[in-house]
Amino acid sequence: MSDIPFLDLTEQGRSLRPAIDRAFAEILDSGWFVRGPNVEAFEAAFAAFCGARHALGVNSGTTALQIALMACGIGPGDEVITVSHTFAASVAGIIHAGATPVLVDVKPDTYTMDADRIEERITDRTRAILPVHLYGQPADMDPIVALAAKYGLRVIEDAAQAHGATYAGRPVGSLGDVACFSFYPGKNLGAYGEGGAVVTSDDEIAHQARLLHNHGAETKYEHIVVGYNFRMEALQGAVLGAKLPHLSEWNRLRQERASWYDEGLAEADVVTPKRGERSTHVYHLYVIQAEDRDGLQADLGRQGIGTGIHYPIPVHLQPGYAQLGYGRGDLPVTEHLADHVLSLPMYPELSRDGVERVVEAVTAACPGKTAVDG
Ligand SMILES: *Cc1c(COP(=O)(O)O)cnc(C)c1O
Repeated sequence: MSDIPFLDLTEQGRSLRPAIDRAFAEILDSGWFVRGPNVEAFEAAFAAFCGARHALGVNSGTTALQIALMACGIGPGDEVITVSHTFAASVAGIIHAGATPVLVDVKPDTYTMDADRIEERITDRTRAILPVHLYGQPADMDPIVALAAKYGLRVIEDAAQAHGATYAGRPVGSLGDVACFSFYPGKNLGAYGEGGAVVTSDDEIAHQARLLHNHGAETKYEHIVVGYNFRMEALQGAVLGAKLPHLSEWNRLRQERASWYDEGLAEADVVTPKRGERSTHVYHLYVIQAEDRDGLQADLGRQGIGTGIHYPIPVHLQPGYAQLGYGRGDLPVTEHLADHVLSLPMYPELSRDGVERVVEAVTAACPGKTAVDG
């Protein structure tokens, strides 16, 4: 039996190869390698996809976070509330903007920001709340947006794992003041290299982000602020523009595979993902919890089934983030998840047989009570 990789990017976009080859050839002939018409066309299409007025292509999700915060006027002395159960870049982006991350716990069922933990951490220095739409599922935005309104805070979405997901019928990217996306190859919408986007319907945030990402330049040699070079490359704009029309179908295929897992694992002694009442989930990752997670991962590995752990060490316990002053025990749900989560193979091209083999292997390793008693 062939192995089932955790992620296989070789199939996706194979059918788009002729169109992408053509776009690449045009770019090589034009000699225009940074931004240009492919990036501009993608920005317009991605803004529309997110139900927002502006999308700015940048060179990563991390830089998108940094300049989204800076474009909101957030910097040194300011506090931004986010989660520790996320990819480290969510927190790094805040530090790169010069602000101080304040970390709160997540909910034990949906794994996204626990809005009940926010208010106790708001101080007179708090400027923004930065929820992460983790694993492909939007955070529970209504209470977050309500708290932000009450205290006059910005809401900045980290949507790097949730392209196309919705909350209360609205797409991520349109749920706060500004949203940040990553197009790292493994994301639901992936470039053939690095990429990201800042998405907003606020003209002033869009303008500031655009300045910051391109040397602070209003016109070619007029630098309004000290900026960065965070521009998107033309080749990535071409790839993303060719892929975007297929994203909704790819997300649907992910949801179908998730429903196969949900059904198949009903008898296994593992926790399957729970969907928030108002959310659609685009399953960037299909994450279960198992009592003996490390044993299960090793067992699956021996059978040629690839898995991942997202994330094994919470950001607040990472050596690089010791400066934030947290310790073990500060965020109990986050710490529990770090020891129990396991991400199963998930991508649109994953076969039904593949899902069934994973289900059988997980169920054999973690038999449910009924199986044991019977
Ligand atoms: C991938 C990711 C990022 C960072 O994106 P890069 O493009 O890798 O810089 C930020 N936040 C989350 C939640 C991510 O998954």
